[in-house]
Amino acid sequence: MISIENMVKSYTIGGETVTALHRVSLQIETGEFLAIIGPSGSGKSTLMNMIGCLDKPDSGNYLLEGNKVNNMNDNQLAKIRNKKIGFIFQNFNLLPKLSAIQNVELPLLYSGMNQSERRKIAESCLEKVGLLERANHLPTQLSGGQQQRVAIARALVCNPPILLADEPTGALDSKTSKEIMGVIKQLNEQGRTIIVITHDLSIANQAKRVVQINDGKLTEKGGKEREVSSV
Ligand code: ADP
Ligand code: ADP
Repeated sequence: MISIENMVKSYTIGGETVTALHRVSLQIETGEFLAIIGPSGSGKSTLMNMIGCLDKPDSGNYLLEGNKVNNMNDNQLAKIRNKKIGFIFQNFNLLPKLSAIQNVELPLLYSGMNQSERRKIAESCLEKVGLLERANHLPTQLSGGQQQRVAIARALVCNPPILLADEPTGALDSKTSKEIMGVIKQLNEQGRTIIVITHDLSIANQAKRVVQINDGKLTEKGGKEREVSSV
């Protein structure tokens, strides 16, 4: 469902060019749980921006559920992004003046749904992440793990087939990280495609498949007997 072929992305600043992705190819099937692991500066954010339709490659092909993404303009990219991908970030990115449920409802504001429909869907998403009883709390009244649950509920509210998580546990202690990875794993078991980007080996190893990125080059890690070298 995701097919990336020979993707190249470079940045030029002050006459100097850095190639962040060197002819990267990656196929991700529907329902996979994939981790992309790599050290700082290896190209993870660049690849996430490409997969997430947040930026365009210099060359290469990107097919997202049959849609040829590499030729799209910014409007088309925004549309496909909103339909296909739910984003989860390290720092949750919740709006501080809105309650948990209002944060979750936000992506539905422009959907044409009325308030009661929006509320119903947001409640069901908060329930999926086990946080319905905190629906009316502000982000500051929630722990880091609870805030990440709200952010995951928000990522689910438009019912995207793909969840793209950028260091989802980067701001959490190890016990809370395990809980959040448990929530993500459950969503995968319900059929969603999950892509987790991380520099943390213990997080990557919870995925069913791991690819490693180093200096903008991807290497696949083998099946069950895989050994991901420490990064
Ligand atoms: P990671 O997320 O693994 O830390 P990035 O994708 O952010 O890696 O960076 C890959 C390489 O591209 C690095 O050398 C980085 O300095 C460079 N890079 C990333 N974004 C930009 C940018 N906007 N402008 C210039 N160079 C960039
Ligand atoms: P970093 O990886 O540097 O910590 P973030 O995780 O906050 O940065 O964001 C990763 C990428 O996603 C950035 O390119 C950013 O512009 C983009 N982004 C941030 N917030 C949103 C959002 N709410 N919706 C879509 N894209 C976003």
